[in-house]
Amino acid sequence: MGIEKLLEGNNHFVECEFSENIEYYKELLKGQNPHVMMISCCDSRVAPEITCHAKPGEIFVHRNIGNIVPPGDWNVGTFLEYGIGHLHVDTLVVCGHEGCGAMHALAHRHCGDDAFIPGWLRHAQPALATVTEKNPYPDDPEKAKEWQSNLEIENVRLQLKHLRTYKIVRDSEREGTLRVIGLYYRISDAKLEVIDPGKPLKHDGKSS
Ligand SMILES: [Zn+2]
Repeated sequence: MGIEKLLEGNNHFVECEFSENIEYYKELLKGQNPHVMMISCCDSRVAPEITCHAKPGEIFVHRNIGNIVPPGDWNVGTFLEYGIGHLHVDTLVVCGHEGCGAMHALAHRHCGDDAFIPGWLRHAQPALATVTEKNPYPDDPEKAKEWQSNLEIENVRLQLKHLRTYKIVRDSEREGTLRVIGLYYRISDAKLEVIDPGKPLKHDGKSS
């Protein structure tokens, strides 16, 4: 496994997908023109290009533990500036997912002696507070799964709020040149749910 499997997979990609669509991949050499930006979790089960059946060049992706958007973060801020300001992408998505280990760790405080994880997860803490206030963590395992889904969805809503602490997001949204959307991916059926559809873009002719 490991590196051998990775290189074998790359060979397969070169021989099949790349060779069969060589014109498409040649065009990518000229530059990227993604139609959507996405902040998603690092979880290996939720790769957006695969779950959205997208080719390289279509999605401008930032992934981190728990699809978190800390206000004033250099990494996220640079992603937003480059994607919105330079690539002129008009759709920005935060995508949470079912069975998120980060949200599980947040709910159960399973961070042990970790040096970085607790500090990172504190940017999702208000989502935990909101969900716990409505409904304390249930003992029943089925209800506990639903409770965790609620936490994962609440975290998407919270991170959408955090996105709007970035000036470029606020300004572009106000001008109608950026649509900010919350999605939730269920591993159990591989479907994406819209948590928050955002305001339509100005050029869609739907906004006033
Ligand atoms: Zn996750």
